[in-house]
Amino acid sequence: MKIETLVCGALEENAYIVTGPEEGVCAVIDPGDDEAALLRAVEGRKADKILLTHGHYDHILGAGALMEKTGAPLYVGAGDMAMLGDEKLCLYDPGVSRARFSPLTATAYGDTVEAAGIVFRVCPTPGHTPGGVCLYAEDEKVIFTGDTLFMGGYGRTDFPGGSFAQIRSSLRFLLSLPGETAFYPGHGQCGAIGANR
Ligand SMILES: [Zn+2]
Repeated sequence: MKIETLVCGALEENAYIVTGPEEGVCAVIDPGDDEAALLRAVEGRKADKILLTHGHYDHILGAGALMEKTGAPLYVGAGDMAMLGDEKLCLYDPGVSRARFSPLTATAYGDTVEAAGIVFRVCPTPGHTPGGVCLYAEDEKVIFTGDTLFMGGYGRTDFPGGSFAQIRSSLRFLLSLPGETAFYPGHGQCGAIGANR
């Protein structure tokens, strides 16, 4: 699996372009507030699916343009679905955003999702948001942790729908994964689960 990182927008959100066995096919995880860079990054490739870890605006603002240009479907955890249609729920902040908010249509995840030939286990990790998920490519020992787990920290729980008790159990799960598992967070550096325990 090849992983490219695009740091998007004022909140420096990490969007990931993931390529599996077929070089010309990619999946996009958390397309944030940099439509132009995202479109450039996928140009000449087939974007297969767009996967969200959660519904906050800084992770979704590039999704509309990508969907329109590539025809790729968008996926989100059921509990965050409402955020995609409501600029207040997704915490949209026009003061710091390049893209305008427009409602998105998505499909709710099942237990797994296959994108760009990679099978991801969809791990519910509520706490930062109610429907937040981590996307775990178990065979590749890679997990995309959104705003649940950061290098040396974890996501805020003081937003609407957040819960400290829930993120605590979500973090317990993440930190129980094999130590060599590489995690790719929604902001900041990636690292190994074991080094973050
Ligand atoms: Zn967030």
